[in-house]
Amino acid sequence: VIVTARPSRSREIEDSSKNGSELLCVVRAVLKKIKRRVLVGDKVVVGSIDWADRRGMIENVFQRSSEILDPPVANVDHLLVLFSLEQPRLDSFVLTRFLIEAESTGIPITLALNKVELVDQEVLSDWNSRLRSWGYEPLFCSVDSKMGLDTLASVLRDQTTVILGPSGVGKSSLINALRNKPDSHDEADNWFDPIMGCKWFEDQRVGEVSTRNGRGKHTTCNVSLLPLGGGGYVADTPGFSQPSLLKVTKQSLAQYFPEIRTVLSVNEPAKCTFKDCLHVGEPGCIVEGDWERYPLYFQLLDEIKIREEFQ
Ligand code: GDP
Ligand code: ZN
Repeated sequence: VIVTARPSRSREIEDSSKNGSELLCVVRAVLKKIKRRVLVGDKVVVGSIDWADRRGMIENVFQRSSEILDPPVANVDHLLVLFSLEQPRLDSFVLTRFLIEAESTGIPITLALNKVELVDQEVLSDWNSRLRSWGYEPLFCSVDSKMGLDTLASVLRDQTTVILGPSGVGKSSLINALRNKPDSHDEADNWFDPIMGCKWFEDQRVGEVSTRNGRGKHTTCNVSLLPLGGGGYVADTPGFSQPSLLKVTKQSLAQYFPEIRTVLSVNEPAKCTFKDCLHVGEPGCIVEGDWERYPLYFQLLDEIKIREEFQ
């Protein structure tokens, strides 16, 4: 059984099973005693089930394949980094920060660029070749004109995905579009009919951002997993609204740049002379500076060095 939400104060947890029934569960006291937190996304063993009342008790938590902190979700197997080409305009430094934060989780990443209908072909192919040179294969989409949504839906299928990206790029709109495949409103309301009594299947409110934390108002309290039509889940809380990069050290930064990572792995066993090489022109460094994001790498390295000095 997968835990899909922790929405209420009075109840410990709610979860739902694949066959479409949901149970309101409490966590067994012994799990709390040994401080086993139950996260959204956890796979759990549920016992003492009362089908009439739809109640159960979480007896055990399976080992997690991954765990991210913002939002707190277990067993995430895919990150979708979503940016828009315009409104707001794609910025290579902001995008790099999100990509670094995503790379630092070790979870596979898909990069998608939304609002393609707002730019001309030239801008598109320019970004396409730039992002390929960074080591990514971007998908282009437009939630408004429904371009590229089928591809995105198939990329998300059967996975648990967290969507990352700055505010305003269309994350909530995309989640709605992927979940409410039918066009007519009536149909959309019944799209997940087999799964009953779930308040959290309400539409995401689009474009509503609270000034306090820059997140949508609906996302302040809890994250939940929304089932996708074709199987799989998407977290309804966009992750890392402001990538802090706090867990990234100056030694680890290089491995989050595909441009550096590939040079180092291709040249195995040839390595930089110094084991702790930061690839900023040290003697015997095999990473050259002939790539677009090299200055951004420098800039981030400086930022991290300063932070580490003051820690
Ligand atoms: P979020 O903050 O990332 O969740 O972004 P929202 O989903 O709230 O969308 C922000 C704004 O962008 C809304 O006004 C959407 O209608 C708009 N939007 C979303 N997708 C597209 C698109 O493909 N094209 C255009 N032009 N606008 C879009
Ligand atoms: Zn080096």
